[in-house]
Amino acid sequence: MAEKRDYYEVLGVNKGASADELKKAYRKLAKKYHPDLNPDDKEAEAKFKEANEAYEVLSDPEKKQRYDQFGHAGVDPNFGAGGGGFGGGFGGGFDFGDIFEGFFGGGFGGRGGARRSGPKRGSDLEAEVTITFEEAAFGCEKEIHLYRTEFCPDCDGSGAKAGSEVVTCSTCGGSGQVRSTQRTILGNMSTVSTCSTCGGKGKIVKEPCGKCAGKGKIRKSRTIKVNIPAGIDNGQSISLSGQGNVGDKGAPAGNLFVVVTVLPHSLFQRNGFDVLCEVPITFVQAALGAELEVPTLDGKVKYTIPEGTQTGTVFRLKGKGISMLRRSGRGDQYVRVMVEIPTHLSGKQKDLLREFEGSLKGNNHTNQKSFFDKMRGNSGKG
Ligand SMILES: [Zn+2]
Ligand SMILES: [Zn+2]
Repeated sequence: MAEKRDYYEVLGVNKGASADELKKAYRKLAKKYHPDLNPDDKEAEAKFKEANEAYEVLSDPEKKQRYDQFGHAGVDPNFGAGGGGFGGGFGGGFDFGDIFEGFFGGGFGGRGGARRSGPKRGSDLEAEVTITFEEAAFGCEKEIHLYRTEFCPDCDGSGAKAGSEVVTCSTCGGSGQVRSTQRTILGNMSTVSTCSTCGGKGKIVKEPCGKCAGKGKIRKSRTIKVNIPAGIDNGQSISLSGQGNVGDKGAPAGNLFVVVTVLPHSLFQRNGFDVLCEVPITFVQAALGAELEVPTLDGKVKYTIPEGTQTGTVFRLKGKGISMLRRSGRGDQYVRVMVEIPTHLSGKQKDLLREFEGSLKGNNHTNQKSFFDKMRGNSGKG
């Protein structure tokens, strides 16, 4: 760190940037350079720290004002003083959890704070499940088969053979972390990193467990029951907290995200929580009115259409749609009637139709009459 960069430059925003713009710019950088996503990348780590530092100042109205007025000297008590250091690493009381809001694909559980130090949380898993249109409408329970990392049952995650010795790591004294301090132009910079002797575990296994080869973890095939809530739609996911891979001892397991595919239905289409259905009717039914049998998610219902129903008319069946996701109530069903023109008519049927047409008067087809009236009105204008 030869010279501190301007905080606005670090975040890539203008001096007049709003709180929202600052937050957005910071989140973008934090996601890009987060140590969990860039393991062992020193440059990314430095960029991550730099972005955190910039955001910590610029997101605090009081610090921002001092920074705008005095620059780095206004916000860093140690600037130029050559002592004290920078508070050691990052994460001091700063919640990184919210960087991950919505980051891992629409989970409802969220991803808890990702801390740099201490035992590492387990990684998330993703699984897929395919359900029918009706299962999505009313909810269902499904079984999912997956492999995940779990603690070894033989050694209970310690990695040590039963009865063998486990000793505290002498390099880190059991903390799993080592702290190194460097003198810089800005004072003492201290960095915390994972102990390489014990790999962050704080303990050293003398005789490894045979089942997991000392890793303390194994891959296991699991069948997990998933309650799929009524109203879920194609492409949405369900988050099962703690059902992902296990992490280090003492840290929470990851989450399981189940992505739902909903199969199309042969009769119904979905629009939000409403169901659309097209019903073919004869032109006689349309002209005379009829009692129709209409399919719904709850079975067939009777619906009476009035005489003179036009093709394409939509009727609503209230409350016959899909259950609202995590709410009470249901959507509606919309029924569109489509008049089907008969084909393969016999000679006799055609004669009857001709006779019928001969009997028609102007007010039997009002749309057609007004269409011809308009056409006559337009004639002669070229
Ligand atoms: Zn084991
Ligand atoms: Zn150690």
